[in-house]
Amino acid sequence: MGKLLEVNNLRVSYHTYAGEVQSVRGITFDVEEGEALAIVGESGCGKSVTAKSIMGLIKKPAGEIKAGSEILYRGQNILNFSKKEWSEYRGGESAIIFQDALAALNPTMTVGKQIAENLIMHKNMSKAEALKEAVNMLRLVGIPNPEERVKQYPHEFSGGMRQRVMIAIAFACDPKLLIADEPTTALDVTIQSQIMDLIKKLQKELNTSVILITHDLGVVANVAKRIVVMYSGNIVEKGSCEDIFYNPKHPYTLALLSAVPRLDLKNKQELASIEGTPPDLIAPPKGCPFSTRCKYCMEICCEKAPEYTEFGDGHVAACWLHHPYAAKELNPFGYGGNDNE
Ligand code: SF4
Repeated sequence: MGKLLEVNNLRVSYHTYAGEVQSVRGITFDVEEGEALAIVGESGCGKSVTAKSIMGLIKKPAGEIKAGSEILYRGQNILNFSKKEWSEYRGGESAIIFQDALAALNPTMTVGKQIAENLIMHKNMSKAEALKEAVNMLRLVGIPNPEERVKQYPHEFSGGMRQRVMIAIAFACDPKLLIADEPTTALDVTIQSQIMDLIKKLQKELNTSVILITHDLGVVANVAKRIVVMYSGNIVEKGSCEDIFYNPKHPYTLALLSAVPRLDLKNKQELASIEGTPPDLIAPPKGCPFSTRCKYCMEICCEKAPEYTEFGDGHVAACWLHHPYAAKELNPFGYGGNDNE
C-alpha cells in the first residue's frame, strides 16, 4: 500500500488577544491508501485542528499554519494548492464528517439536494442523475424508504439518521480520504456502534482512507489499524491498534486506556479519570507536555522534552521512562537501565 497522505512537522497557531496559542506543535504521521487511522486525545489536544489543516479550513488571520509544515496528498503539498486545486480536492478527493450533523446540514434544503449538490459539482452529473444517485446513497447508508426520505429536510431525521445523511454526502463523490471528526459523540451508545460499523463497512468496500478523530479510545478498537495519540499539540505515541491497546508505552496512553469502560472489570471497579488539566498552549512547558499531570514525572521531564523511542513496526513513544538511565522503581513499563549504578 502506498502513502495517500503525509503530514510532516505540522505546526498550527491561533492568534488571540491573550497571545499565540500553539495548537499543533510539530506533528508527523502518514495515512496509507485504504487505511483507517485514528487520532485520539482529549479535547484541546490539537486533533481537530489537524483535521481542519488537512481540509484547508485554517483561515488567516486568526489561524496560521507555520512555515516548514507540509501536508502531502499523493506527494503534492496541499498547502500550496491553487483555489481550483482546493475545490477539486475538497468534496472530490477528500471529505469530512463533523460531530454535529444538524449544524453541518443546511436546514433549508432537502437532504436529497444536499447530496446531489456535490455530485453535480464534482461528478458532472445532471440534476436528475444526481437526485437518483442521492437515493442510492441513502439506501447504501441504511436509510429506509430512501425514495421518500430524499425529499425530506434535516429536522425530519433523528440524530443517528442525520449522521447517516452526513456519511452519504461524504461518500457520494467516492473520496479517497475521509476525515470523521468525533462522528458519534452526540449519539447514544447503540447508535454510536451502528455508525462506526457503517463507516468501517464503507471504508472497506470503497477502499477509502479514513482518519477517525476521537477523544474515546473505546470507539476506535474495531475500526482503526493504527492509532496516533495526541497530547497538548504533540504526538506522544503512535503504533498499531494492538501496540496501543496491549503494549502501550506512554503514561498518557495508559491513563486514556484506564478511562475506557471494560466488560472484564469487576462490578465496583471505578473508571479512572486523568487528574489535572492540559497545559496552557500560549506558554507550553519546556519539558514533557504531560509533566504537570504525570504520576511518573522525574526531574528531567520538566527540563527537556523527551525524544521518540522506537519499539519496532512504527511503534514510537516520547517519554523519558524509556531512557536507559530511567529509574526502575515505579516504572510502569518494568525496566530501567540503572541497575548497575
Ligand atoms: Fe511522564 Fe516524564 Fe514520561 Fe513525560 S517524560 S510522560 S512526565 S515520565
